[in-house]
Amino acid sequence: MNVEIMMIGTELLLGQIQDTNATWMAQTLAEHGVDIYRKTTVGDNRARLVQALRDALERSDVVLCSGGLGPTEDDLTRECVAEVMGVELAYHPELFEEVVARFRHLNLSIPENNKKQAWLPVGARAIPNPNGTAPGLLAEDARGVITCMPGVPSELKPMLQEQVLPWMRERFGLTGVLHYRVLKVCGMGESRVDELIGDLITSSSNPTVGLLASPEFVRIRIAAKAATLAEAESLIDPMDAAVSARLKGRVMGRDEDVLEAVVDKLLMDRGWTLAVLETETGGLVCHKLRAAGSRALVGGAVYPVAELAVLEEGDRVDFIRKCLVPFTVTCFLGLVWLPEKKLTAVHFGCPAGNYTWEIPQLGQGARAQLRASIWALDCVRRSLVGENG
Ligand code: ATP
Ligand code: MG
Repeated sequence: MNVEIMMIGTELLLGQIQDTNATWMAQTLAEHGVDIYRKTTVGDNRARLVQALRDALERSDVVLCSGGLGPTEDDLTRECVAEVMGVELAYHPELFEEVVARFRHLNLSIPENNKKQAWLPVGARAIPNPNGTAPGLLAEDARGVITCMPGVPSELKPMLQEQVLPWMRERFGLTGVLHYRVLKVCGMGESRVDELIGDLITSSSNPTVGLLASPEFVRIRIAAKAATLAEAESLIDPMDAAVSARLKGRVMGRDEDVLEAVVDKLLMDRGWTLAVLETETGGLVCHKLRAAGSRALVGGAVYPVAELAVLEEGDRVDFIRKCLVPFTVTCFLGLVWLPEKKLTAVHFGCPAGNYTWEIPQLGQGARAQLRASIWALDCVRRSLVGENG
């Protein structure tokens, strides 16, 4: 099966928005074992879109489009598909009814131009869009299939995953999945991770192992091809175990796991509460915990670097404890930037004991703050799970 994707929208050609849909579609299709042979980007121009669709149908069995399905004048996709298929547009009152129902549900009045979304090329079928007003469409003739999906990512994603992909699997008898799991590693850089698991990366073929670094953590992606999801998981499991063993407690979580939530749960499981004193991170640790809905966090304070950096370690810990007394908590966490030593000292105290770590910190600014706050939280996590190596 020859599949290509077509991204429609002048804003994409002008570079006004990033084409995240194409990236997401390519990844998602690959995960489902669908190889993409080509990607086209075309503006909201009738003649060029018609030409692009014609060319695509010559080459491919399936053309998956995103964008230009809305109610406005520049949304031309449905007209262009009709022209390419050599048919007229037909009005489908039941599609407009769905739009009406949706607007009524949201208590909004219905703009007249929304009627446009109820027109489909003759012979095409509508793909329901529970997340927006514009239905998708699927049209085909002897040359192949064109499916059109909305440009709005939150509408496109469920439509492709829940409706178009299942249809493709059935229609083209697709078998096999490419499934992956992401292990998130905090508190060490990409090159250190590479040193520890590099041989697994180079020697593996199914599953494959790859690295992706960000300031917050290193992602290790383990991807397997198999007939079923369960089979893919069973290929991934032993590699997950091998990688985790090499990294000795540095794997913070998997896939959607969020460090702040992991730490919060560990604290809550023990019935502990936390207050945080920060210097250079300016409250970022508190902000992150709060954003993740932390229940263990009671409060925090931000102190000037100069005031704490001059203290010896023992005095520093005393200072942190004293500052946080008003919060009456069971655990304290302090992040003290020591500019001369080019590191952030992290002090964590809990009923199980007191811990100190030193995080190398070369620069200042948002990236350094992000890294220090995440690494400090990961220190806390490791002390709570007893992995302090
Ligand atoms: P609508 O019904 O909202 O008009 P549509 O199907 O007509 O949807 P477009 O008008 O092409 O889609 O795009 C709507 C919005 O979706 C854009 O303003 C943009 O924010 C987002 N969008 C469109 N295409 C892409 C893309 N390729 N990548 C990321 N976002 C996109
Ligand atoms: Mg639009």
